[in-house]
Amino acid sequence: QQKITLANRPKGMPTKEDFKFVESDVPTPKGQEILVRTLYLSVDPYMRGRMQDTKSYIAPFELNKPITGGVVAEVVESKSDSFKKGDVVVGNIDWAEYTIVTEKEIRVIDPKVAPVTTYLGILGMTGLTAYFGLLDIGNPKEGETVVVSGAAGAVGSAVGQIAKIKGAKVVGIAGSDEKLEYLTNELGFDGAVNYKKDSFVDDLKRAVPDGVDVYFDNVGGEVTDAVFTLLNTNARIPLCGAISSYNAEGKDVGPRLQSAMIKTSATMKGFTVGNYASRFKEGATELGKWVQEGKLKYEETIIEGFENTPDAFLGLFKGTNLGKQLVKVAEP
Ligand code: NDP
Repeated sequence: QQKITLANRPKGMPTKEDFKFVESDVPTPKGQEILVRTLYLSVDPYMRGRMQDTKSYIAPFELNKPITGGVVAEVVESKSDSFKKGDVVVGNIDWAEYTIVTEKEIRVIDPKVAPVTTYLGILGMTGLTAYFGLLDIGNPKEGETVVVSGAAGAVGSAVGQIAKIKGAKVVGIAGSDEKLEYLTNELGFDGAVNYKKDSFVDDLKRAVPDGVDVYFDNVGGEVTDAVFTLLNTNARIPLCGAISSYNAEGKDVGPRLQSAMIKTSATMKGFTVGNYASRFKEGATELGKWVQEGKLKYEETIIEGFENTPDAFLGLFKGTNLGKQLVKVAEP
């Protein structure tokens, strides 16, 4: 069996050489430990930050130790009374084909309630990020204009649809015309703009004739600079991610548009989904209800094969994913 460790702390865009595949025997559980077999794993942009040895809200990955992330797995052998062979579980655990976990690291999920992959996406961390960031910080009202960047990704696609559920007008920003089509045709966004086009700034202006009341920011950089020139009075800006700068080697200096916020009395608030841990149940219940009612759609881009995990991760920075990027490691 194989696991993936962090081989280097990358400078700039990571490469496949920053990940090392290490062979080992399938481990044996002791005490109250549980042996699990990975079925699906999640690759996430925030992991880029953990590859760096810098202070953050979450500890950096250690060099030559397994990378950890969201995993759906099946219990193979259990020394714990709380888990039995065959249980499907989710947790933040090693990127490995087989791994030993403790009771606290995993929880059982029911494949009959929802497809197991959704616990890594729309009903898991990404859905909850969209739900709490948009509703708690953005607080969109009926008729307001919500703009979301990274709109065709896992978090962004959920944000736009939740804003629609709340009666807002929604414009998404994404990096290809196929993604724009998906947003307007499949997800019911009112508008969508391609940030890679030279005409982006003008296209965005045209797409939000009434200005921007809520800007849910997944990407930062020049995209965000453009949105800031269109803010309405009392605009709210949930700062969720800044993927455009995750691989930046120097300082990312922008046109400094703080005055735009002063003029509009806008509020910008950074957050991590973990801030809302005590309300996860509420969020997951609401998201599950919307999915069941067909009001909240989700897409998953699934790469097959554990050996393709680094490619799946690197694809996030090239925009090869539509919706949630996952890796299928083994057949359930
Ligand atoms: P996505 O599914 O959105 O995947 C990343 C997407 O980012 C790509 O598909 C790509 O789409 C876009 N992208 C890549 N590079 C750039 C760039 N230079 N400029 C603009 N867009 C770019 O990932 P997630 O939904 O998992 O995460 C979205 C954001 O939310 C990330 O910034 C992430 O760090 C953050 N996040 C924050 C959390 C929190 O607790 N605060 C929790 C979870 C995620 P395109 O083709 O459109 O370029």
